[in-house]
Amino acid sequence: MDAINKGVFDMMEIKVTLTDHPKAKPDENNLGFGHIFTDHMFLMDYTAGQGWHDPRIVPYGPIPMDPASSCFHYAQEIFEGMKAYRTAEGKIQFFRPGQNFKRLNTSCERLVVPKLDEELLMEGLRQLVTIDKDWVPSAPGTSLYIRPFVIANQEVLGVHPSTHYIYCVILSPSGAYYAGGIDPVRIYVETKYVRASRGGMGAYKTGGNYAASLIAQEEAEKQGYSQVLWLDGVERKYVEEVGSMNVFFKIDGEIVTPELDGSILPGITRKSVIQLLESWGMKVSERKLSIHELEQAARAGKLDEAWGTGTAAVISPIGELKCGDVTTVINENKIGPISQKLYDTLTDIQWGRIPDPFGWITPCC
Ligand SMILES: *Cc1c(COP(=O)(O)O)cnc(C)c1O
Repeated sequence: MDAINKGVFDMMEIKVTLTDHPKAKPDENNLGFGHIFTDHMFLMDYTAGQGWHDPRIVPYGPIPMDPASSCFHYAQEIFEGMKAYRTAEGKIQFFRPGQNFKRLNTSCERLVVPKLDEELLMEGLRQLVTIDKDWVPSAPGTSLYIRPFVIANQEVLGVHPSTHYIYCVILSPSGAYYAGGIDPVRIYVETKYVRASRGGMGAYKTGGNYAASLIAQEEAEKQGYSQVLWLDGVERKYVEEVGSMNVFFKIDGEIVTPELDGSILPGITRKSVIQLLESWGMKVSERKLSIHELEQAARAGKLDEAWGTGTAAVISPIGELKCGDVTTVINENKIGPISQKLYDTLTDIQWGRIPDPFGWITPCC
């Protein structure tokens, strides 16, 4: 297993090459998501026998790769997603970035990618965002989306862990998720396709999970739904996630979220929501929740609220759930009081509007 770097890391020097063609900044009121990229990116290479080397910040641009590069064929790739926020004072801050780098290393283990030095990644991110700080938007609800990823790039078609990798971080100013107010989404309960199953890759952030999910997403959209509710891959019975978010329900006063059983992605927003609810004295049950139980609760008028959690939307209330012929409307298709309070508190902490009692904020610059 020479692909796993078990060595002790020394902090490597990050070499910086600035662009001599800075791009024009975009209109902050029309950013959308994931279309616009900043002037610079972070790169680092891995070579078997040498480990991770040459951390550097360079002008944003194409990465030349050989067509035989292994990530193109066998999807040995992992990624992360997080944000930087500009406060009213003009400062830039991150929300729990250490958790993202920790999770990246967890994904490394599952996909046999050599682990990375989390301190170096944090320092690289801080330097990259500082260099591109003028790209962090300040219009209400806007942020800088951060996408770290690792791709395998050994030039060989044999199926085995690669001997070469690229770690890269790109930055994308992104618009307010709820520019027109928080509208609950319509969700389609997926009974044909499976996203992930225990022992597979569902608990790790890797592109293959997304490739597996596209067809269901497309069919749901055709029927007028915005996302699918995934059921477990073995019994097709237990609720797992909604789209690419974790999911919570308030049933008869109890707040329930599926337990992390190996096929669910351990969301950092999920974890923060649980901590927040507990800090408010509410109990959160992490347990198995069958679609049958959910339908029964809905029929009995006991499904009070439902919402998804993830970095992009923070909280995404579910207004309607369709399973087979049964359609359930939740909280009259309006955001519920708990969803609203969670959204307000999390976004207030992220944008620095209220003090952060949890130590979730890391200042950048
Ligand atoms: C990233 C992701 C989430 C949410 O994780 P956060 O850390 O809260 O952004 C949930 N489910 C899937 C499948 C994901 O990829």
